[in-house]
Amino acid sequence: MRAVVIGSKNKSKLQEIREIFAGLERQFLDLGSFPATVEVVEDGQSFEENARKKAAGYAAQTGHWVLAEDSGLVVPALGGRPGIHSARYAGRQGEDDANNQKLLQEMSGFQGEQRSAFYVCSAALSDDKGNIQVEARGECHGLILGEFRGQGGFGYDPLFLIREYHATFGELSSAVKHAISHRSRALEGMRRSWRRSLAND
Ligand code: IMP
Repeated sequence: MRAVVIGSKNKSKLQEIREIFAGLERQFLDLGSFPATVEVVEDGQSFEENARKKAAGYAAQTGHWVLAEDSGLVVPALGGRPGIHSARYAGRQGEDDANNQKLLQEMSGFQGEQRSAFYVCSAALSDDKGNIQVEARGECHGLILGEFRGQGGFGYDPLFLIREYHATFGELSSAVKHAISHRSRALEGMRRSWRRSLAND
């Protein structure tokens, strides 16, 4: 059976994707098995465009089928920010604390529904030639708190309250996160379609 490479260098995402796909028979590799790969530049204008760029770009470099995703937090009251710039909102790539502080500061005057937000995950599966075969999107809606709660998850999770659970993704277990998250929804959509693309190989 053909192995699929997970096209991400983000360790937290990689772990979540592996956990979500834990029950599948397919073998998943990550970019650690391909040390010569150069990071794909995420200069697209949408989550979808960036996911396609990463999947096709890493497929071209590794010669394998690649699953990639682009994700982030959208705050409608901030005109959609941080959006596709979520990982580098405060300036430097992947600095969660600085990103969270900037978000708190920008939302300091906001009350009630103005604090609504949602996570988006766009996933794309490329074949070994760099052609996108499957795409899927998932969302997860919540509220941005004014203070941190919980140590779990990553990124904006300690500020992201799930209304139904009265708890943040920082407080909820990874099993609960995987039951409702943007990432698990996108990957579930992808898994349903890729049987046709990756059938019997
Ligand atoms: P990407 O690597 O360009 O897709 O950026 C993803 C960024 O979006 C992360 O660095 C986080 O800031 C944010 N993000 C995406 N998914 C999550 C999540 O599940 N929890 C918390 N933050 C997330």
